[in-house]
Amino acid sequence: MAVVMPPAIVILGPGALATARRVQTLYADSQVHALQGRVDGDVAFSELGAHLRECYMRGMPIVALCAAGIVIRCLAPLLANKGAEPPVLALAEDGSAVVPLLGGLTGVNVMAREIGAALAVAPAITTSGELRFGACLLNPPEGYALASLAQGKRFVSDLLAGATTRIDGDAPWLETVDLPRDAAARHAIRVSAQTWSGNPDDLVIHPRSIVAAVSAPREALAERVRRALDAQGLAPLALAALVAPAALTGDSSLEQAANELGVPLRFADTAGHTALDALDALDALDSGAQVERYAPNEDGIALARAAAPLDPLTLGRARGKLTVLGLGPGRADLLAPAARAALDDATDIVGYATYVEMAGPFRADQQRHATDNREELQRARHAFEMASEGRRVAVVSSGDPGVFAMAAAVLEALEGSDDARWHAVELAIVPGVSAALATAARAGAPLGHDFCMLSLSDNLKPWSVIEKRLLHAAQADLVMAFYNPISRARPWQLDRALEIVRGVRAPQTRVVLGRDVGRPGETLRATTLGALRPADVDMRTMVIVGSSATRGFARGDGGEWIYTPRWYREDD
Ligand code: SAH
Repeated sequence: MAVVMPPAIVILGPGALATARRVQTLYADSQVHALQGRVDGDVAFSELGAHLRECYMRGMPIVALCAAGIVIRCLAPLLANKGAEPPVLALAEDGSAVVPLLGGLTGVNVMAREIGAALAVAPAITTSGELRFGACLLNPPEGYALASLAQGKRFVSDLLAGATTRIDGDAPWLETVDLPRDAAARHAIRVSAQTWSGNPDDLVIHPRSIVAAVSAPREALAERVRRALDAQGLAPLALAALVAPAALTGDSSLEQAANELGVPLRFADTAGHTALDALDALDALDSGAQVERYAPNEDGIALARAAAPLDPLTLGRARGKLTVLGLGPGRADLLAPAARAALDDATDIVGYATYVEMAGPFRADQQRHATDNREELQRARHAFEMASEGRRVAVVSSGDPGVFAMAAAVLEALEGSDDARWHAVELAIVPGVSAALATAARAGAPLGHDFCMLSLSDNLKPWSVIEKRLLHAAQADLVMAFYNPISRARPWQLDRALEIVRGVRAPQTRVVLGRDVGRPGETLRATTLGALRPADVDMRTMVIVGSSATRGFARGDGGEWIYTPRWYREDD
C-alpha cells in the first residue's frame, strides 16, 4: 500500500473551521492548519505564503479554504517543476466550491471528487481527459508506472480527438472507466513489463512486477541491472525491488543502485549466496507457474517476473534502521525536525516510559517499548534486535541523546557485539537541545564562554573522580552545568560538590537553577553559590554555576539577565 501523505487543510479564520473539519474526516491523520491569532486548529502557522510553500515543498497535499488566487500567488514561485507537484485544491470556506488547482498527475482530481462528494457539490474539474473518461489515464495506481508522460499526453489527445483504444493486458483499475473501447482499434493501452516499442499509438503502463536479485556488490550496479532487464526486453520501470542475500545488508553499492533505480532494496534470508538463492527465499514468488524466472547473467543478476504487481513489503525485509534522537527539554517546538521525521518514520519507539510518552502521540501501527530508566544497555540491545529484523527503531532520550543519555549506550552495545546483523543496521544519531542549553537560554547566556558539563551521579563512575573533576573545573574557572545533581539514592553528594566548589570560587558567584525547563510547570531561579542549598534542587533541576566573570543585570520585565561575557581577563 502506498503511504500517501495526509493533506494539510489550511484555514484563515473561524468561518472555515466547520468545513475544514468535515474534509478532515475524509483523510486519516490529516490536520487543520490554522492562522495563528485568528482561529485554532491542529497546527498553527503565522504566515500563509511561507506555510503553503513549506507544505508544498514537503510534497504535502494542500486543501486551502480561501480564494484560489491567493493560493496561486503564494505557490507561484515554486511552480517551475511540473512532475513533482502534490495535489493543491482551493475550497470555498462554506464548502460550496471545490477547485482542483495543481497536481493533475498526483491525484488532485480524485481528491476534488472525494471532497465534492462529501460536501455535495460538483468539483470544478477542468482536465479534458478526466472529464471525458472519468479518470486520469496518466496517473495509474500504486504498483504501476507510466512508461512515458510525453507519449501518454499524446495518446490522451488522440482519444480526445476521437480515436478509440483496446486494452492489452490486465488493467483492473480501468474497468469502470468510460473509455472509447474498440477491440480492433489502432491505439492500445498496454499493461506490460516489456519495454515500450516506441509505437506512438501505444499508452504503455508497466506493472511493477519484476524482482532483480544480485549476489555480490559490484561497480555501476544500477547500470548492470538495467542491462540485465534490457537483455530480456523488460523495462526498468517494471522493477518492483532489488533483492540481495541478507549477508549483504548495509552494503553501500547496493543502496546506491536501488536509489538510482528508484526501487526499494530488500534482503532475503538465504542459505547460499547466489542471486537464485535470494529469489528462492522469497515467499511472494512461490506462486509457481505465475512467475517467470530468468537465469543469472554474467553479472550474477537473476530476474523473476510475476503476472501482477508485487508489493515490495512482501519481498524479504528492508535494512533495519536505528535512530537515537533527542527530544529536547520537552516542548514540541524545541524538537528538531529531523528528530520529528525519525519519530514519524519509526515502526518502534524505545525509551524510558516518560520520554516515550513525551515523544507521542503515535499512530496505532507504531509499537511503543517503554522501559525502566536504569536499563540502558538492555534497551539498546533490544533496539538492535528489532532493527536487525528490518524494523525502523527510534530510541528516545530527553535533551540531547549524546549527553548522559542513550547514544553512548547504543554505541557501547554495538561495539560489544559481534553480531553482523547489528553492524549492518543503518544507525543515525539526531541531536537535541540539552537541558543545560535550554536552561541557559532561559536565563540569558551563562554558557557564553568556556564551560563544562558534569554529571554528579556516581552510579557509573566513582565519587572520587567526580570530586577531582569538580575541583579542576572550579580551579580552571569554567562555568559548570550539573546534570543529575541529586536524587533520593544520592542525598549527600550535592552538598559535598558545593563544598568543593566553594573552596575555590567566591560566595557571590552566580548560579542558575532551571527546573522542568521547557515542560509544564517550568521554573527558573537565579541565586548565588553562597546562598544555594541542596533543598533548592531535585533530580529535575539543572544547576549552572557561573565563573568569576558571570554577571547579571535587570531585565525590563523585572527579572534578571545572567550572562558570561565572551572575553576573559586573567585578573577577573
Ligand atoms: N540527555 C539529557 C540529560 C539526561 S541526565 C539532556 O541532554 O538534557 C538527566 C538530568 O538532566 C536531570 O537530572 C536534570 O539535571 C537534567 N534535565 C533534564 N531535563 C531537564 C529539564 N527539562 N529541566 C531541567 N533539567 C533537566
